[in-house]
Amino acid sequence: MAALEAALALRALVEERVTIELVGPEPHFFYRPLSVAEPFGLGDTQRFELGALAAGAGATFTLGALEGVDAAGHVAKTSVGEIEYDVLLVAVGAVPTVAVPGALLFRGPADADKFRGVLEAVAAGAARRVAFVVPSGAVWSLPIYELALMSATHLGEHLVQGAELVLVTVEDEPLQVFGRAGSDAVRHLLAERGIDLVAGTRAVDVVEGELRLVPEGRLEADHVVALPRLRGARLDGVPQTLDGFVPVDAHCRVRGLGDVYAAGDITTFPIKQGGIATQMADAAAQMIASRLGADLRPEPFRPVLRGLLLTGREPRYLRHEEDGDDGDAATTEPLWWPPAKIVGRHLAPFLAGLAGVESAAEAELEPGAISIEVELADAALEKLSKRVEPDGAEGDTVGEVMTTELLVVSPEQPLAEVAERMRVLDVGAAVVAHEERLIGILTSRDLLRALAAGADPQVARTGEWMTAEPVAVPASTFVESALSLMSEHGIHRLPVVEDGRPVGMLGFRQAAQSARGRGIGLGF
Ligand SMILES: Cc1cc2nc3c(=O)[nH]c(=O)nc-3n(C[C@H](O)[C@H](O)[C@H](O)COP(=O)(O)OP(=O)(O)OC[C@H]3O[C@@H](n4cnc5c(N)ncnc54)[C@H](O)[C@@H]3O)c2cc1C
Repeated sequence: MAALEAALALRALVEERVTIELVGPEPHFFYRPLSVAEPFGLGDTQRFELGALAAGAGATFTLGALEGVDAAGHVAKTSVGEIEYDVLLVAVGAVPTVAVPGALLFRGPADADKFRGVLEAVAAGAARRVAFVVPSGAVWSLPIYELALMSATHLGEHLVQGAELVLVTVEDEPLQVFGRAGSDAVRHLLAERGIDLVAGTRAVDVVEGELRLVPEGRLEADHVVALPRLRGARLDGVPQTLDGFVPVDAHCRVRGLGDVYAAGDITTFPIKQGGIATQMADAAAQMIASRLGADLRPEPFRPVLRGLLLTGREPRYLRHEEDGDDGDAATTEPLWWPPAKIVGRHLAPFLAGLAGVESAAEAELEPGAISIEVELADAALEKLSKRVEPDGAEGDTVGEVMTTELLVVSPEQPLAEVAERMRVLDVGAAVVAHEERLIGILTSRDLLRALAAGADPQVARTGEWMTAEPVAVPASTFVESALSLMSEHGIHRLPVVEDGRPVGMLGFRQAAQSARGRGIGLGF
C-alpha cells in the first residue's frame, strides 16, 4: 500500500520529472482488508496485477526482493541484482509470525479457508467454544474483532445453538487505539452479539485445549484463532530494531541513511495499518518531490487514524444483499473501517477507478455509523508501547548492578574502528549515541552479520548495521524486571539510560547473579 501510494503521490507532485521503479517479490497486489469476509462467503480478497498497477501509476515493475542497501553507493541490493537509485523508499511491509503457538494463525487471505473450517465445526456441533486473540507485540487488531463479530452474526443466522465466542485481548480496552469512542462502541457491539470479552490479558499458547494466559488463568476453547505478531525482515545495511523495524524521522527519512526513506508496516511506528502506511508514504513523497524541485513545503507525517464503526443491529453487508446489489464491493464489506476499505489519498481513487469499487463518499453516508477520527498524540502512542514493572518486583535496581564503563560510539564511525575499540576494551558491544542520546547498540553479532554480507568494514558505518532503538531501561528498574525483559526479547545486554542518555549496561550474567543472590529462580 505504501509503495503504490508513494508512486502515485510522486507522479502527481512532480509529473514527468521523476522515473519510478517498483520492486517486489510478488506479481500481485492483494487487497487484504476484505479477507475477513471470505470465510462467511461475503467477499473475496481482491487481487490486482502489480505490473498493470505500476504502469497505471506511471512506474515500471521489477519482480525481485530487496535484500540490502548500500546507502553510500546509492545501490539497492536485490535478489535480481543491484539497482542504482537517487532516492530509495523501503516499503516492504511486515512479516506475520506466530504469536500464540497452538492457535490458528489468521494472517489474511491465505487463512480464510482454515477459519471457514472452524465455523463449519461449530455449525456442525463438533466444536462449541472459539476464542479470538489479539496478541502482544506489533499487531493490527481490527481484523480479529471483525472475525468475532461476523462469526456471531453468521452462527446466529444459521440458528446454531450453544456456540460460545470469547475475545481475549492484550489491550486494556477493546480496540484501544481508537480511543474511548471506539472502545465503547465495540464493547457494546460485542455484548450485543453475546461475545465475552477478556481484556488486559496476554495469551501465551494453547496446550491441550486450553489457552494459557498471563498474568494468570486458563481458558478452555475448542478452537483458538489468533492474529500474527508482526516483525520486519532483515535488510543488510539498514538500521533495524530487534523486531526488524526501521526507525524514521517525521518526514519518513531513515535515521542515519542519506536518501533512504521508509514507510508503512516496516517502520518503527507502532500502528501497523494501511491508512497510516499511506499517510507515511505521502509524507515521504512530499519530501522527495521538494528535493526534485516541486514547489511545496513538505508536511511532516501527522498520523490520523480513521474508521467507520457501524452500530446498527444488522451489519451493512446484509442489507445490501437484500437489495440484491450483488457484485458491489460495498455489499461484502465487513462491519467497518475505513470509510472506503481501500485507503490512501491517491491509492483509494486509483484502485476505485480500476476496479469499479465504492468511493469513500458513498460509504460515509451509511446511516447509524459512527465515524471515528483519532489524531494520534505522542502520549497515546507511548501508552501503546509502555513497559510495565511486574507486580511485586523488588530487590536490587539496575543502577546498583550495571557496569558504567561503556564504549559509546557514533553512527558515522566505520565498523573497523568500532571493532578495534571493542577488542581493546574487551567488550562485546558498543552503544551508539547521536547528540548524546542512545540510538542503537552494535554487538559482535552485528559485526559478524556485516562481514558475512560482504560489507567493507573500513567503509560501512555503524549506523547501517546497529540494532536501532534497542530495548533499554532506566537505572531505577528492578533487576528482576530487567531479567524478564531480557528473556522476553532474547537479549543478553540491556543499555541503561537516563533522560535518553546512555549511562550503563546490564549484562545477563550480572543480572542473573544478582537475582540468584536473592534466590529468584530464573525459570529458563
Ligand atoms: C487480515 C488483515 C486485514 C487488514 N485490514 C485492514 C483494514 O481494514 N484497514 C487498514 O487500513 N489496514 C488493514 N490491514 C493492515 C494493512 O494491510 C497493512 O497495514 C498495510 O498493508 C501496510 O502497508 P505496507 O505498504 O507497509 O505493506 P504491504 O501492504 O504489506 O506491502 C508490502 C509490499 O512489499 C512487498 N515486499 C515484501 N518483502 C519485500 C522485499 N524484500 N523487497 C521488495 N518488496 C517486498 C510485498 O510483496 C508487498 O507487496 C489489515 C491487515 C490484515 C493482515
